[in-house]
Amino acid sequence: MIEKNQLLDQTIALLRDCLPADSSFIGLHEPLFEGREWEYVRDCLDTGWVSTAGQYVGKFESALQEYTGARRAIAVVNGTAALHVCLLLAGVEAGEEVLMPSLTFVATANAVRYCGAVPHFVEIENISLGVDAAKLSNYLETIAELKDDGLFNRLTGRRIRALVPMHVFGHPADLDALADVADRYKLVLIEDAAESLGSFYKGKHTGTTGKLSALSFNGNKIITTGGGGAILTDDDALADRAKHLTTTAKLPHRWAFVHDEAGYNYRMPNLNAALGCAQLERLSSYVERKRRLAKHYEERFRDHPHMSFIAEPSYAQSNYWLNAIILSQEAAVYRDDLLEATNDAGIMTRPIWTPMHLLPPYQDCPAMDLGVTEDYYGRVINIPSSVKLGETHEE
Ligand SMILES: *Cc1c(COP(=O)(O)O)cnc(C)c1O
Repeated sequence: MIEKNQLLDQTIALLRDCLPADSSFIGLHEPLFEGREWEYVRDCLDTGWVSTAGQYVGKFESALQEYTGARRAIAVVNGTAALHVCLLLAGVEAGEEVLMPSLTFVATANAVRYCGAVPHFVEIENISLGVDAAKLSNYLETIAELKDDGLFNRLTGRRIRALVPMHVFGHPADLDALADVADRYKLVLIEDAAESLGSFYKGKHTGTTGKLSALSFNGNKIITTGGGGAILTDDDALADRAKHLTTTAKLPHRWAFVHDEAGYNYRMPNLNAALGCAQLERLSSYVERKRRLAKHYEERFRDHPHMSFIAEPSYAQSNYWLNAIILSQEAAVYRDDLLEATNDAGIMTRPIWTPMHLLPPYQDCPAMDLGVTEDYYGRVINIPSSVKLGETHEE
């Protein structure tokens, strides 16, 4: 038997122990500007280059390439737009299906819908909370048919074009296993790496295993450009096409407006890229501090009988973008009480996302058995994870 008030008090005490004592409110994830942000943004304002032209977009893209090891990076307005373009470039067409986890932020599903395609929800595994490759493989064995021209869902008759794993809270999904499934079933592998800039899978940066991948630089991500995203790929032809599609499909010319298809105005403005350049210079130090905070949480929660801390899988080096605790089955009934009590105490917490298959726009989409997903939905709580919180813990 769990005594509710004792559980609440214990949790708040444990969290307080990991967090600065002098704050009346501690947010979930706040941005940090301690580098050359002012300098670069001021440069944009001083020179007038704030929008669709200017040097920072190219610089930001080069810096992203260098950090991630991706051959090409294309900066765009946000992570959702990056996902949308990845899917288009993967050849996802209206009426096709795209395999993706149900336990993700809604953007993953929305991007599929923007293509006129149908999200097909797949199960996650315990360690990374990412797509379960073994279960997926078994599932496809039973419901899908591999033909010369690709994979088809026997139940719906629709083609299944792509697989989009997501790296939950920055913890890399098992990419080798997923790439193997994608290979065997002729699926294009697209990584939703929106949360995992700074996370490595077996030494390789997340977002560089899939044919294409999407990053996000929203205000709550590990680095921010205000709003922003990027597409990563090693394929020059796809990268060129990504640049073209995201810049209104305008053909280069000194003055003429000739657009050879219906493109998108998805290009990242120079002002945002300037912020990105300064933030990226600090990324390694941000990851270090986030890992330090996570280690502290992990140690604190280690002996708790009803809570465990989500830690990086053995194959990975995670950025620990967003820390999370998992309640025991027994304590799960108190999830909402815990959310209430911690937020009342000035410590911001929130539940993991509502799984996509439970949301009105996606509840009728095809899905495999999502028992693990639904189980975690009721038991995962995100806790404060700002970079600056890692400063309070010396090694
Ligand atoms: C943040 C996020 C996105 C979308 O990024 P935006 O820049 O907010 O559009 C997509 N997928 C996941 C998993 C995210 O966390």
